[in-house]
Amino acid sequence: MANDAGGAHAPNGRRVSGVPRLRTARREKASHLTVELAGVPLSVTVIRSAGRRKTVSIAVDGDAVRVRAPMAATDAELSNLLCRRVGWIQARLGARSARPEPPALVSAGRVPYLGRSLTLVIEACRTGRPAAQLHGDLLRITVPGPTPAEEHQERVRRALVAWYRARAIAELPRMVSDWSAVSGHTPARVLIRDQRRRWGSCAPDGTIRLNWRLILTEPRLAQYVVVHELAHLRHRHHQPPFWEEVARIMPDYQERRRLLSKVGHELLASL
Ligand SMILES: [Zn+2]
Repeated sequence: MANDAGGAHAPNGRRVSGVPRLRTARREKASHLTVELAGVPLSVTVIRSAGRRKTVSIAVDGDAVRVRAPMAATDAELSNLLCRRVGWIQARLGARSARPEPPALVSAGRVPYLGRSLTLVIEACRTGRPAAQLHGDLLRITVPGPTPAEEHQERVRRALVAWYRARAIAELPRMVSDWSAVSGHTPARVLIRDQRRRWGSCAPDGTIRLNWRLILTEPRLAQYVVVHELAHLRHRHHQPPFWEEVARIMPDYQERRRLLSKVGHELLASL
Protein backbone atom coordinates (compact mmCIF):
# COMPACT_ATOMS: atom_id res chain seq x y z
CA MET A 1 0.00 0.00 0.00
CA ALA A 2 1.60 3.19 -1.09
CA ASN A 3 1.18 6.26 1.01
CA ASP A 4 -1.01 8.81 -0.68
CA ALA A 5 0.99 11.66 0.80
CA GLY A 6 1.86 14.49 -1.51
CA GLY A 7 3.13 17.79 -0.17
CA ALA A 8 1.39 20.77 -1.65
CA HIS A 9 3.87 23.22 -3.01
CA ALA A 10 3.37 26.89 -2.97
CA PRO A 11 2.53 28.64 -6.21
CA ASN A 12 5.38 30.48 -7.85
CA GLY A 13 5.90 33.96 -8.96
CA ARG A 14 2.92 35.77 -7.56
CA ARG A 15 3.21 39.45 -8.20
CA VAL A 16 2.68 41.52 -5.11
CA SER A 17 3.76 45.06 -5.67
CA GLY A 18 4.95 47.57 -8.19
CA VAL A 19 8.19 49.50 -8.39
CA PRO A 20 8.93 51.76 -11.38
CA ARG A 21 11.48 50.63 -13.94
CA LEU A 22 14.51 52.61 -14.91
CA ARG A 23 16.64 50.88 -17.53
CA THR A 24 16.16 48.78 -20.61
CA ALA A 25 19.48 46.91 -21.03
CA ARG A 26 19.04 43.11 -20.95
CA ARG A 27 21.08 42.21 -17.92
CA GLU A 28 20.43 40.32 -14.73
CA LYS A 29 22.23 40.47 -11.44
CA ALA A 30 21.70 37.98 -8.63
CA SER A 31 22.44 38.68 -4.98
CA HIS A 32 21.38 37.55 -1.54
CA LEU A 33 19.53 39.53 1.02
CA THR A 34 18.89 38.46 4.58
CA VAL A 35 15.76 39.82 6.13
CA GLU A 36 14.30 39.19 9.52
CA LEU A 37 10.72 38.01 9.24
CA ALA A 38 8.90 37.77 12.56
CA GLY A 39 12.24 37.37 14.34
CA VAL A 40 13.52 34.63 12.04
CA PRO A 41 16.36 35.43 9.61
CA LEU A 42 15.47 34.43 6.09
CA SER A 43 17.88 34.34 3.16
CA VAL A 44 16.29 35.66 -0.01
CA THR A 45 17.69 35.40 -3.53
CA VAL A 46 17.29 38.70 -5.37
CA ILE A 47 17.47 38.80 -9.15
CA ARG A 48 17.60 42.32 -10.47
CA SER A 49 17.05 42.77 -14.14
CA ALA A 50 17.87 45.75 -16.23
CA GLY A 51 15.25 44.81 -18.79
CA ARG A 52 11.73 46.04 -19.01
CA ARG A 53 10.68 44.80 -15.61
CA LYS A 54 8.69 47.40 -13.74
CA THR A 55 7.50 45.40 -10.79
CA VAL A 56 8.82 43.34 -7.93
CA SER A 57 7.63 39.76 -7.65
CA ILE A 58 8.11 37.38 -4.76
CA ALA A 59 8.09 33.63 -5.30
CA VAL A 60 8.20 30.92 -2.66
CA ASP A 61 9.17 27.46 -3.81
CA GLY A 62 9.62 24.89 -1.04
CA ASP A 63 12.00 26.59 1.39
CA ALA A 64 13.40 29.10 -1.08
CA VAL A 65 12.25 32.69 -1.41
CA ARG A 66 13.17 34.50 -4.60
CA VAL A 67 12.57 38.11 -5.51
CA ARG A 68 12.68 39.54 -9.01
CA ALA A 69 13.10 43.27 -9.15
CA PRO A 70 14.13 46.10 -11.41
CA MET A 71 17.83 47.02 -11.27
CA ALA A 72 17.05 50.25 -9.46
CA ALA A 73 15.31 48.64 -6.48
CA THR A 74 17.45 49.03 -3.37
CA ASP A 75 17.97 46.37 -0.68
CA ALA A 76 16.14 48.64 1.77
CA GLU A 77 13.11 48.89 -0.50
CA LEU A 78 13.06 45.14 -0.99
CA SER A 79 13.47 44.47 2.75
CA ASN A 80 10.55 46.76 3.45
CA LEU A 81 8.43 45.05 0.87
CA LEU A 82 9.33 41.59 2.22
CA CYS A 83 8.46 42.70 5.75
CA ARG A 84 5.09 43.98 4.58
CA ARG A 85 4.43 40.64 2.91
CA VAL A 86 5.53 38.57 5.90
CA GLY A 87 2.14 36.89 6.33
CA TRP A 88 1.96 35.92 2.68
CA ILE A 89 5.50 34.51 2.70
CA GLN A 90 5.02 32.61 5.93
CA ALA A 91 1.80 31.04 4.67
CA ARG A 92 3.72 29.71 1.67
CA LEU A 93 6.67 28.55 3.72
CA GLY A 94 3.98 27.03 5.91
CA ALA A 95 4.13 23.60 4.27
CA ARG A 96 7.35 23.35 6.28
CA SER A 97 6.84 25.51 9.35
CA ALA A 98 3.17 24.78 10.04
CA ARG A 99 3.85 21.07 10.28
CA PRO A 100 3.10 19.98 13.82
CA GLU A 101 6.14 19.79 16.03
CA PRO A 102 7.21 16.28 16.97
CA PRO A 103 6.04 15.41 20.48
CA ALA A 104 8.17 16.97 23.20
CA LEU A 105 10.09 14.10 24.73
CA VAL A 106 10.02 15.50 28.26
CA SER A 107 8.36 14.36 31.45
CA ALA A 108 4.60 14.98 31.26
CA GLY A 109 4.83 15.11 27.44
CA ARG A 110 2.30 12.90 25.69
CA VAL A 111 2.87 10.29 23.00
CA PRO A 112 0.37 8.17 21.06
CA TYR A 113 0.05 4.42 21.39
CA LEU A 114 -2.74 2.36 19.76
CA GLY A 115 -5.36 5.05 20.17
CA ARG A 116 -4.22 5.89 23.73
CA SER A 117 -2.30 8.92 24.88
CA LEU A 118 0.59 7.97 27.16
CA THR A 119 2.29 10.37 29.55
CA LEU A 120 6.06 10.27 29.56
CA VAL A 121 8.03 10.04 32.76
CA ILE A 122 11.72 10.53 32.02
CA GLU A 123 14.28 9.59 34.60
CA ALA A 124 18.06 9.67 34.58
CA CYS A 125 20.03 6.74 35.87
CA ARG A 126 23.75 6.51 36.66
CA THR A 127 24.56 3.49 34.56
CA GLY A 128 22.95 0.94 32.33
CA ARG A 129 21.14 1.12 29.04
CA PRO A 130 18.17 3.28 28.13
CA ALA A 131 14.92 1.46 28.92
CA ALA A 132 11.19 2.07 28.67
CA GLN A 133 8.36 0.50 30.64
CA LEU A 134 4.62 1.01 30.55
CA HIS A 135 2.68 1.36 33.80
CA GLY A 136 -0.97 2.06 33.03
CA ASP A 137 -0.90 5.23 30.96
CA LEU A 138 2.57 6.23 32.17
CA LEU A 139 5.51 5.38 29.96
CA ARG A 140 8.62 5.50 32.08
CA ILE A 141 11.83 6.04 30.12
CA THR A 142 15.16 5.72 31.88
CA VAL A 143 18.29 7.05 30.23
CA PRO A 144 21.84 7.25 31.56
CA GLY A 145 22.73 10.79 32.52
CA PRO A 146 23.61 13.50 32.97
CA THR A 147 24.25 14.34 29.32
CA PRO A 148 23.99 17.55 27.29
CA ALA A 149 20.36 18.42 26.58
CA GLU A 150 20.46 17.62 22.88
CA GLU A 151 22.09 14.25 23.37
CA HIS A 152 19.67 13.52 26.18
CA GLN A 153 16.71 14.12 23.84
CA GLU A 154 18.23 11.82 21.26
CA ARG A 155 18.69 9.06 23.84
CA VAL A 156 15.09 9.45 24.98
CA ARG A 157 13.93 9.35 21.37
CA ARG A 158 15.90 6.20 20.68
CA ALA A 159 14.59 4.49 23.82
CA LEU A 160 11.03 5.46 22.86
CA VAL A 161 11.41 4.17 19.28
CA ALA A 162 12.94 0.91 20.56
CA TRP A 163 9.94 0.49 22.86
CA TYR A 164 7.47 1.22 20.04
CA ARG A 165 9.21 -1.25 17.76
CA ALA A 166 9.14 -3.95 20.42
CA ARG A 167 5.42 -3.29 20.95
CA ALA A 168 4.86 -3.42 17.17
CA ILE A 169 6.65 -6.78 16.98
CA ALA A 170 4.42 -8.07 19.79
CA GLU A 171 1.10 -6.58 18.63
CA LEU A 172 1.02 -6.41 14.84
CA PRO A 173 1.60 -10.10 13.98
CA ARG A 174 -1.21 -10.92 16.43
CA MET A 175 -3.46 -8.49 14.58
CA VAL A 176 -2.49 -10.17 11.29
CA SER A 177 -3.40 -13.63 12.58
CA ASP A 178 -6.78 -12.37 13.87
CA TRP A 179 -7.61 -10.92 10.46
CA SER A 180 -6.17 -13.95 8.66
CA ALA A 181 -8.82 -15.98 10.44
CA VAL A 182 -11.52 -13.53 9.32
CA SER A 183 -10.31 -13.22 5.73
CA GLY A 184 -9.06 -16.71 5.01
CA HIS A 185 -5.74 -15.28 3.71
CA THR A 186 -2.54 -16.27 5.50
CA PRO A 187 0.79 -14.57 4.76
CA ALA A 188 3.97 -16.61 4.45
CA ARG A 189 5.49 -14.35 7.12
CA VAL A 190 5.09 -10.96 8.73
CA LEU A 191 7.98 -8.53 9.10
CA ILE A 192 7.96 -5.26 11.03
CA ARG A 193 9.86 -2.55 9.21
CA ASP A 194 10.94 1.06 9.54
CA GLN A 195 9.49 2.87 6.53
CA ARG A 196 8.91 6.55 5.97
CA ARG A 197 6.62 6.43 2.98
CA ARG A 198 4.35 3.46 3.38
CA TRP A 199 2.33 1.69 6.00
CA GLY A 200 2.73 -1.75 4.61
CA SER A 201 3.42 -3.91 1.59
CA CYS A 202 2.77 -7.39 0.34
CA ALA A 203 5.50 -9.16 -1.64
CA PRO A 204 4.90 -11.81 -4.34
CA ASP A 205 6.36 -14.46 -2.00
CA GLY A 206 3.50 -13.81 0.45
CA THR A 207 5.54 -11.75 2.92
CA ILE A 208 3.64 -8.89 4.52
CA ARG A 209 5.75 -5.99 5.76
CA LEU A 210 4.21 -3.58 8.24
CA ASN A 211 5.51 -0.24 9.42
CA TRP A 212 6.14 -0.17 13.19
CA ARG A 213 4.51 3.29 13.24
CA LEU A 214 1.13 1.55 12.88
CA ILE A 215 1.43 1.21 16.65
CA LEU A 216 1.02 5.02 16.83
CA THR A 217 -2.44 4.88 15.23
CA GLU A 218 -5.80 3.78 16.53
CA PRO A 219 -6.10 -0.03 16.28
CA ARG A 220 -8.88 0.21 13.71
CA LEU A 221 -6.59 2.13 11.35
CA ALA A 222 -3.78 -0.38 11.80
CA GLN A 223 -6.36 -3.13 11.19
CA TYR A 224 -7.31 -1.51 7.89
CA VAL A 225 -3.68 -1.64 6.73
CA VAL A 226 -3.46 -5.28 7.80
CA VAL A 227 -6.64 -6.15 5.86
CA HIS A 228 -5.42 -4.17 2.84
CA GLU A 229 -2.22 -6.20 2.71
CA LEU A 230 -4.04 -9.50 3.34
CA ALA A 231 -6.35 -8.73 0.41
CA HIS A 232 -3.24 -8.33 -1.76
CA LEU A 233 -2.52 -12.03 -1.16
CA ARG A 234 -5.61 -12.59 -3.33
CA HIS A 235 -5.30 -9.64 -5.77
CA ARG A 236 -1.96 -8.06 -6.53
CA HIS A 237 -3.42 -4.79 -7.80
CA HIS A 238 -5.82 -2.01 -6.80
CA GLN A 239 -8.53 -2.78 -9.36
CA PRO A 240 -12.22 -3.11 -8.32
CA PRO A 241 -11.94 -6.85 -7.45
CA PHE A 242 -9.26 -5.94 -4.91
CA TRP A 243 -11.48 -3.35 -3.21
CA GLU A 244 -14.41 -5.80 -3.26
CA GLU A 245 -12.22 -8.23 -1.39
CA VAL A 246 -11.23 -5.56 1.17
CA ALA A 247 -14.93 -4.69 1.62
CA ARG A 248 -15.84 -8.34 2.06
CA ILE A 249 -13.33 -8.67 4.91
CA MET A 250 -13.90 -5.22 6.42
CA PRO A 251 -17.21 -3.63 5.32
CA ASP A 252 -16.39 -0.21 6.87
CA TYR A 253 -12.90 0.00 5.37
CA GLN A 254 -13.60 3.24 3.49
CA GLU A 255 -14.04 5.27 6.65
CA ARG A 256 -10.90 3.79 8.19
CA ARG A 257 -8.97 4.46 4.99
CA ARG A 258 -10.13 8.06 4.92
CA LEU A 259 -9.14 8.59 8.56
CA LEU A 260 -5.73 7.05 7.96
CA SER A 261 -5.07 9.36 5.04
CA LYS A 262 -5.96 12.30 7.29
CA VAL A 263 -3.63 11.48 10.18
CA GLY A 264 -1.17 9.31 8.34
CA HIS A 265 1.32 11.79 6.90
CA GLU A 266 2.11 13.27 10.25
CA LEU A 267 2.57 9.88 11.90
CA LEU A 268 4.75 8.56 9.07
CA ALA A 269 7.02 11.55 9.45
CA SER A 270 7.21 11.39 13.24
CA LEU A 271 10.07 10.06 15.36
ZN1 LIG B 1 -2.13 -1.80 -1.83
